[in-house]
Amino acid sequence: MKRRHFIQKSTAATVLAGVGGLSLQSFSPSKTKKITILHTNDVHSHIDPFGPEDGRNANKGGVARRATLVESIRKENPNTLLLDAGDIFQGTPYFNYYGGELEFKLMSMLKYDVATIGNHDFDNGIDGLYAQIPHADFEFVSANYDFTNTVMDTHVKPYKIIIKDGIKIGIFGLGIQLDGLVNKEMYKETVYHNPIEIAQDMSRILKEEQSCDLVICLSHLGYNYKNNPNKVSDITVARATKDIDLIIGGHTHTFLPKPTIEKNSVGKNVLVNQVGCFGLYLGKIDFYFQPGKEVSSDGTSIIV
Ligand SMILES: [Zn+2]
Repeated sequence: MKRRHFIQKSTAATVLAGVGGLSLQSFSPSKTKKITILHTNDVHSHIDPFGPEDGRNANKGGVARRATLVESIRKENPNTLLLDAGDIFQGTPYFNYYGGELEFKLMSMLKYDVATIGNHDFDNGIDGLYAQIPHADFEFVSANYDFTNTVMDTHVKPYKIIIKDGIKIGIFGLGIQLDGLVNKEMYKETVYHNPIEIAQDMSRILKEEQSCDLVICLSHLGYNYKNNPNKVSDITVARATKDIDLIIGGHTHTFLPKPTIEKNSVGKNVLVNQVGCFGLYLGKIDFYFQPGKEVSSDGTSIIV
């Protein structure tokens, strides 16, 4: 089930860059730092677990069980981030009645750190999304949606940097083309930019300018379009960019039992993961940082 694979060559200098002020001597040579990334996608307002009659999903999912799971993982490793790759809204009467308030409040209680925006998050229009922002104690990132001429302006950042145990983690967001997928009346003046070009820029800014030790792309582009290979997906972003360590995806409801490993444009490994939908699974990826050694990782999907 579990495995370890080396994802990139990370020099001691890169690792040290994230812990500014500490000298080499401050490190015990055997001191490994562990960052755990937990993630969901396409939860689609599934707050309750599935019932006993729900076929293969029977008795799975639900926010309460996810909360217990997240809490126990955080207890094991306080250096844990919780991320969501979009389509938080739409799918149960909770959304129809409360318009997303409950979803955001519960995600805040679970202490989500960052989320990106999926196409269904516009289902009550951009004004409906904006109305729920006060209930979210976590941040939204999207680098290729320009919200300048909308109510969401300044409420969504291209990226967020979080430092855990001296490790600098850069997280940027990517959203799917809305034209043809979402009624323009819903997304209004939101402008979509090419995700590949944006991802190339973002990964350069986060890795080179901001000296992040770990670069994560939170994407709602979809995993892979085999019948339409020109359509931008997590796989095409992974191959066309450098300096992204992990792409956490959504939209296609693809269930991966463990992250896929792709080669980026300079032959380094990129992890790509997605955990189906409806909160049935929680993705868990552990990154290990050791001065002078390559960054390594373990990935697995946990049934909720
Ligand atoms: Zn979805």
